[in-house]
Amino acid sequence: MSVLRRWGFPAFAVFMLVLPALPVPDFWITQSNYIGLYALVSLGLVLLTGVAGLTSFGQAAFVGIGAYTAAYLATKMGVSPWLTLFVGVALAVVAAVVVGAITLRMSGHYLPLATIAWGLVLYYSMGNADALGKYDGLLGIPSLHAFGVDLGTGRGLHDVIWVFALLGALAVTHLLDSRPGRAIRSLKGGSTMAEAMGISTFHYKLVVFVIAAVLAAVSGWLFAHFQRTVNPTPFSISKGIEYLFMAVLGGVGHVWGAFLGSGVVRIIEDQLQVLLPKLIGTSGNFETIVFGIVLIVVLKYAPDGLWSFFERWLPSPPRARNWQGAAPLPTRAKPARGELLLDVNEVRKEFGGLVAVNDVSFQIRAGDIVGLIGPNGAGKSTTFNLITGVLALTRGQVNFRGQSIAGLPSRQIARRGVSRTFQHVKMIPEMTVLENVALGGYLRTKSNSLQAMLRLDREEEKRLFAEAEKQLERIGMAHQAHELAGNLALGPQRLMEIARALCTDPALLLLDEPAAGLRHKEKQALGDVLRQLKTEGMSILLVEHDMDFVMGLTDRIVVMEFGTRLIEGTPAEVQASPAVRAAYLGTEH
Ligand code: ADP
Ligand code: MG
Repeated sequence: MSVLRRWGFPAFAVFMLVLPALPVPDFWITQSNYIGLYALVSLGLVLLTGVAGLTSFGQAAFVGIGAYTAAYLATKMGVSPWLTLFVGVALAVVAAVVVGAITLRMSGHYLPLATIAWGLVLYYSMGNADALGKYDGLLGIPSLHAFGVDLGTGRGLHDVIWVFALLGALAVTHLLDSRPGRAIRSLKGGSTMAEAMGISTFHYKLVVFVIAAVLAAVSGWLFAHFQRTVNPTPFSISKGIEYLFMAVLGGVGHVWGAFLGSGVVRIIEDQLQVLLPKLIGTSGNFETIVFGIVLIVVLKYAPDGLWSFFERWLPSPPRARNWQGAAPLPTRAKPARGELLLDVNEVRKEFGGLVAVNDVSFQIRAGDIVGLIGPNGAGKSTTFNLITGVLALTRGQVNFRGQSIAGLPSRQIARRGVSRTFQHVKMIPEMTVLENVALGGYLRTKSNSLQAMLRLDREEEKRLFAEAEKQLERIGMAHQAHELAGNLALGPQRLMEIARALCTDPALLLLDEPAAGLRHKEKQALGDVLRQLKTEGMSILLVEHDMDFVMGLTDRIVVMEFGTRLIEGTPAEVQASPAVRAAYLGTEH
């Protein structure tokens, strides 16, 4: 099985590249050319839609940019074809950055709508521009030459197309297994957790949008030299929908789904164009109807696409542990014990008429474990969200290590050394525990998308995984490092979040109900871990419901009720307070 996984790609690559030398009929070489061209575009959609959760109907327009750039520069200006590739890609990048910058900050359906609009605009522009030959397009594009050989169209061009397609697949595969790749994989789960780990979700949305556009533009450039003529039809919005169809059919979450989907669509399309008119008697675009029906069937019975059937045969082997001896990641200068770390001053949060946090003040000194307790709905989690920048303050000041952090986006607060867990666990279920924890090390590492695609990030990855494993050991979870996070029980998921927060090398750790859902033994182990962290000098703000757990662990406790700070004191003072008994213990017991 693992033989398949290891040799599957090289075997497939060699097969595709020797195909034109074999006695394969021209018809199938042509089909294979189309499949490679389509796969390049679908590959972008796998990244964009399948992994990052962003839907684009406008990829055909980027294909058009690549194709028209090649056609126009070669036929009207005599520019060398290899040069036009760079111009086409550059134009696609500019277009993607402009369209992306306008739409990617908006949530929901704006991006799909914007990509439809963008596709339509480009289609009608191509069809109405005199310089681009209107709907007749441009004819007489020269063929590609390499090393003095005319690559012509069919057989000669086959390997050029497939080298690009295979390199694209390799680059995307590498990207997904990297620092930026994990950031991209975190986009689908909403932005809160990723931003709290220091990731700019907007940046990565833009990155995947640009990469998808580049892959499409390369496909378009190849297409122009394959057809030797361009007109607007292959770049219309219906083709854009077809690309999305290929990706979804093949399996929009998998690199190889792009290839499978492209292959199936191309072959069915071709057969149906011959078969359907014979069956029905008249000609028309009946294959579109068949595709619609096929898509519904696939979405119902194989929502992960056809590739999921193959995937079952390719069990992923556990990641090789090859990071022993990797140099440790850089650490931040820690505050001195007793230094004023966090100063929360009269913070307030109103949700409409509801005052969730009512002018609350408290301080944390370095090395302290402070408990934040109070009945459900008292405003504890909201206070956390105000400190970490997840929610905007209505009023008030928050200083961290002497500097104001009020109003900063949460990724910048994370950069200053505040890390947190969430009351409702936020993680990437389809990543391993180790990869989830490695997300915490995002700000301590640097590799960018280009380095990741070229595999220049391996040394840093080893250092990061060594750190992630160290944090899992610290929390007693090293044995579960390679399990999928989504398969863990709630208790271990919470512990994983703590390991992830520790992986950021925080100066202050905010834990929102870390013991909720833990069994007695697990709770004791968590208590030991927190005490250990304290002896190491970590400062912790802890929201907790279990009174015994908080009492035995904290230096001081802040009690909240209905958004207001009721009392602050040592555990003994809080326990003795009649007001707390009435407000908190009274409602609990
Ligand atoms: P706790 O964590 O102490 O249980 P929360 O901070 O979650 O309490 O909630 C405090 C109050 O604010 C509750 O009444 C809750 O319903 C309300 N609240 C929390 N988040 C929101 C929100 N995003 N919109 C409106 N109300 C909210
Ligand atoms: Mg809460």
